[in-house]
Amino acid sequence: MAEINYSVIIIGAGAAGLMAARELSAAGRSVLVLEAAKTPGGRMLTLQEEGFSGPVEAGAEFVHGALPLSLQLLKEGGITYRPVRGKMMQVQKGEWGKRNMFDGQWEELMQKMEALEEQGQDLPVADFLAREFPGEKYAGLRESVQRFAEGYDLADVKTASTLALYREWQEEGQEEYRIDGGYGRLVQFLIDECRAGGCLIENSSPAKEIRWQPGRVEVVTADGRSYSGGKLIITVSLGILQMEPAVPESVSKQQTGFLQFFPPIPGHLQAARQLGYGAVTKILMEFREPFWREKGKGVSFILSDEPIPTWWLQSPDESRLLTGWLTGAALKKFAGLDQEERIKRCLRSLASIFGQGPDWLQDQLVKAFIADWPSSPYIKGGYSFDTVESEQARKVLRQAIEDTLFFAGEALYEGPSPGTVEAAFTSGKEAAEKIIAQS
Ligand SMILES: Cc1cc2nc3c(=O)[nH]c(=O)nc-3n(C[C@H](O)[C@H](O)[C@H](O)COP(=O)(O)OP(=O)(O)OC[C@H]3O[C@@H](n4cnc5c(N)ncnc54)[C@H](O)[C@@H]3O)c2cc1C
Repeated sequence: MAEINYSVIIIGAGAAGLMAARELSAAGRSVLVLEAAKTPGGRMLTLQEEGFSGPVEAGAEFVHGALPLSLQLLKEGGITYRPVRGKMMQVQKGEWGKRNMFDGQWEELMQKMEALEEQGQDLPVADFLAREFPGEKYAGLRESVQRFAEGYDLADVKTASTLALYREWQEEGQEEYRIDGGYGRLVQFLIDECRAGGCLIENSSPAKEIRWQPGRVEVVTADGRSYSGGKLIITVSLGILQMEPAVPESVSKQQTGFLQFFPPIPGHLQAARQLGYGAVTKILMEFREPFWREKGKGVSFILSDEPIPTWWLQSPDESRLLTGWLTGAALKKFAGLDQEERIKRCLRSLASIFGQGPDWLQDQLVKAFIADWPSSPYIKGGYSFDTVESEQARKVLRQAIEDTLFFAGEALYEGPSPGTVEAAFTSGKEAAEKIIAQS
């Protein structure tokens, strides 16, 4: 192996990778970050594209509560943020009403979930619902739980942990925030901090092969460059870690973030496959006029029974942007369509929600962008959710291999805000702290 050039190499410049890089370089370590995409940020992706009247969030958009690391970084970066205001409305067959997601049976649901926790049991959400809430009386509740779990947590109810959802839903109702100018400002702040600490960030550099032995790592990129380090932090998404080992030849042609380890690390990759990873596509549509001004006054979120069911508005009300959110079965139907048909479907859903003609809406549309994360070669999905196996699997994945290979990223986080940027920041910081403590 070549001599060691960097004390730590980090794969991925998303929230976890940038956070780890900042901590390590501030502690005097020489750090190289290899990022596959053209720009850093990963699932924090603020677009500044012609046609949109301001920056728009193709990935993370909200700070889900008073989350310590996110708010601390915003403060350090002098970046302002503001609370999301407005009501959540439900629209069924064009009729607008206040959200009543759980058919008035929320208390009963929480009690049964609490009893499960007291028994120290866990089971997949679908099995829990079938056992505790059978029959016609609870059909609405079962559907609501599924929609909520799929929509918010990107969870598959067949494998998702009931206890994990219970713990998360208890945290519901916290204030949410949007960052002025978007998450991109936080990305830029972290990049500046990393560079100030002497860290090198190489974009357009997908890692392909990892050759390692205790205390030494060699990372080879898709275009054949080779870098050596003393330790490695892998922060790629579960979508990349869960890829089945394919014939190397076909993998190299596919242009994905797929990583090959020499020697292999089957235990860790098996653990990664036991975690849940959901899919989401986000739709950004800017119109000439906020035609929803009247119906949508004071509204922040709309949940509907349309093919593209979930939409949200920006505040203030004058914004001309509508954002759609597509997960679960609705996403599967959407995924195979071409771009034109996708936009038509979005407009038809909006037409029925707002009582407008689809042709008129098409005329009003200035710009549309579909952030298709499951097709993104270096993300391949959305964010993680807990299965009944996650607790054990995460323990394995959080164990460094021979004090040389470390994993980090939102999926490795243990705490009250899973699947978030905060989760990724926390995990990246923890990995860096482990390395700093060792040497
Ligand atoms: C549509 C959407 C909306 C979201 N909304 C919110 C929200 O409102 N609030 C919130 O808190 N969270 C939200 N999230 C979740 C949040 O964005 C993620 O949890 C977080 O950004 C993940 O950070 P990470 O560092 O773990 O992973 P990533 O951001 O995925 O970073 C990993 C990096 O590794 C790179 N990579 C992959 N393969 C390779 C390779 N072989 N070599 C080199 N680099 C590689 C990728 O390009 C990527 O940049 C959202 C996610 C999505 C998809």
